[in-house]
Amino acid sequence: MREVFAIIYIVLIVLLGLFGVISKKSSKAIGKAVSYLLFTFIVPIAGNLILVLSENELLSTIGSYTYFIGMDLMAFSLFDFTLSYCNIPWRHNKKIYFIYTLLTIDVLQYFFNPFFGHAFGMEAITVDGTLYYRLVPYLGQTFHRIAVYIAFITSLGIFIYKTIRVPRIYAEKYYIILFTMVLAGIWQSYYIFSRTPIDRSMMGLAVCGMLIFYFSLFYRPFRLLDRMLANIASKMSEAIFFFDASKRCIWANSNGCKLLEVRSDNLEHVNQRLFAMFDDLGVGQDNWSSKQSVNFEKGTQYFSLDKHIVTDAKNKKIGYFLSIQDNTEEILKHQQEIYEATHDKLTGLFTKEHLFNQIKNKVSSETETSYSIAYLDIKDFKMVNDIFGNDTGDLVLKRVANWIRENATEGWAYGRLSGDAFGICYPTSTEKLDLVQRRLSKFVISNGSIDQHILMHVGIYRIIDPSIDVSIMFDRAHLALTTIKNEYNMHIAIYDDNMRNQLLWDQKISTELEGAIENRQIVPYLQPIVDNKGTIIGAEALVRWLHPEEGFLPPFKFIPVFEKNGMIAQVDKYIWRSACEIISSWNGDKANLFISVNISPKDFYFMDVYAEIKALVEEFKIDPSRLRIEITETVMMTEAESRMAILSKFRKSGFIVEMDDFGSGYSSLNQLKDMPLDVLKIDMKFLSKAEDNHRAETILRNVLRLSSDLGLFSLTEGVETEDQYKMLNEMGCNLFQGYYFAKPMSVADFEKLCDKNKG
Ligand code: C2E
Ligand code: MG
Ligand code: MG
Repeated sequence: MREVFAIIYIVLIVLLGLFGVISKKSSKAIGKAVSYLLFTFIVPIAGNLILVLSENELLSTIGSYTYFIGMDLMAFSLFDFTLSYCNIPWRHNKKIYFIYTLLTIDVLQYFFNPFFGHAFGMEAITVDGTLYYRLVPYLGQTFHRIAVYIAFITSLGIFIYKTIRVPRIYAEKYYIILFTMVLAGIWQSYYIFSRTPIDRSMMGLAVCGMLIFYFSLFYRPFRLLDRMLANIASKMSEAIFFFDASKRCIWANSNGCKLLEVRSDNLEHVNQRLFAMFDDLGVGQDNWSSKQSVNFEKGTQYFSLDKHIVTDAKNKKIGYFLSIQDNTEEILKHQQEIYEATHDKLTGLFTKEHLFNQIKNKVSSETETSYSIAYLDIKDFKMVNDIFGNDTGDLVLKRVANWIRENATEGWAYGRLSGDAFGICYPTSTEKLDLVQRRLSKFVISNGSIDQHILMHVGIYRIIDPSIDVSIMFDRAHLALTTIKNEYNMHIAIYDDNMRNQLLWDQKISTELEGAIENRQIVPYLQPIVDNKGTIIGAEALVRWLHPEEGFLPPFKFIPVFEKNGMIAQVDKYIWRSACEIISSWNGDKANLFISVNISPKDFYFMDVYAEIKALVEEFKIDPSRLRIEITETVMMTEAESRMAILSKFRKSGFIVEMDDFGSGYSSLNQLKDMPLDVLKIDMKFLSKAEDNHRAETILRNVLRLSSDLGLFSLTEGVETEDQYKMLNEMGCNLFQGYYFAKPMSVADFEKLCDKNKG
């Protein structure tokens, strides 16, 4: 009997030791706690082994000590294992030290037992004729049991707590160990209280240890795993279907059921519905993915499908799963973002960048068709905004946009280029110039009380070389647009290369101007002005550019360019200064001659014309009446009142103010009567156009009379013949200028002419 138990105990000790070593080497976090537990299990079993084998009291006593201290160690490590296995966060909490302290005291008390005998004694008994030494427990032994039970029950308590508190599918992890511990505990208790000399409960303990070893290190709770995976799969946003090797659907998550409108307990129709919904399901492919759109009643939905094969450990196909993700929201959002990035918010037309890209693709891919570019610009759009407010301005823009949209035919690409500019690219064969001219280029908007005519100007560029940059095409269309004058009937201009050459020329002379002034290439020519006796009394300063490459440039070649870009102010200032210089240099016979200078309407935007000229006559110390001021009617077209005030200032300071080119522009006779003027300059040129000579004469006669009635001096320019001179003289004209007397000439020539005249 003894031998049998001894062998069993030895086997258990060896096994526990072995498992202990395996646990220690385990990579799992719990491995260490398990190995300590198994090693400490060895100690009480070893104690029992000694007890079983002992035939004298000393050995039995040693066995008992080993056993009890072993039980303490075991309780110690069981508690430690529990905390670790159950992930108890208060593992390092001081309260826990109570258990450790209790067990430590218990170990210590055994060391005092040989001296005090308070814990236990031994008595000899005979069982079946064999002598055993049995334990006689005293007070210390009771303490020992209490301490060990407290540690054991606390551990159990923790497991019970965990089993109850965690979700049911996780509880398995805890109740398997709990169950093992309860069994071992009952077995152990039975033997403790039955007081049999051979403690068979040790076998229970060892088995408990081994079960713990297995469950905590190797057992995989498949049910838990199954449930977990199923749970995860059912909560996934994708629709998921599992199929077995025969392609039968064996499981679908709730989104899958919802998508195909099937019930989770009846998956028969899954395949049929999938094929009805999607064009392609990757039949015959192991791993496959695709993006597909499906048209439902409520609209198009977008899906991405993924199919993955499932294999067993030997790589044999055992089924597959299909996941279907609904990307509709994302794709719609993306589409919306693209729309917003490519479309103008207000009009819904393409943005400039997007339009340019579209045009680029269009003209480079369709080489058969010839295309044109139209640049549409709303005239004076700023004024619409100012007068009617931005809301009406927006309305006008929308109206133009709608107009384009409605009239666009196949092959048109159009968009909004900037504030009030629109762009269209169209096959030239679909051009609707007539329609544009008649309808789009002028329309009326009204805010109830005020009607505003809206004018559109359209510049057109015919694409010859599709490879040039779209922005250059629009630049050219825009260039054509800028050639449209402010005429009410001309709204469309088509680009030709002359426009481009003109632009380049304009740019060239603009950059050259400053140098030309410095190098005295810009010079005033003088054209004599005579009185009714034919005597030269003064001259008009007319600018000329003696260009080193272009040759002699008359003003019509460059004045309009500089009027457009504002550089005219530089030219005029220089001519005024030159005129002053010349006047101040004249003495003797020429001391009374005057020079008239031209003032461009644009000068008023760039400087204080009065201050500028006043400063000049002061600088050169000349009599202001010798520098005559020529303005045209257009000066009065804007800010009439302030302009009149300026002219008044000139007159008050002693300047003579002349109205140039009277009759050639928008003559407002009404304005004439209030204007602070001294001389009316009448242009013969406009009269020469009149077919009926008699009629021209009548007009001239009346203008001259009007002039004298208003108390103004009259000067006729463009006098080319003797007859004209005689006639004008007879009509009472005061002063004359024209080729009949002399053409504009250099200052030196003019001076010579004066001297000759005198002589
Ligand atoms: P404008 O001020 O009316 O000058 C008179 C123009 O008529 C001059 O042309 C002159 O050469 C021309 N002319 C004079 N007599 C006759 C004639 O008998 N027959 C014909 N067919 N033409 C005659 P020009 O010098 O070519 O100047 C043209 C215009 O350029 C000027 O018209 C003036 O508006 C502008 N201009 C000239 N110089 C200046 C300047 O320094 N500053 C500004 N702002 N404008 C200037
Ligand atoms: Mg003039
Ligand atoms: Mg003139």
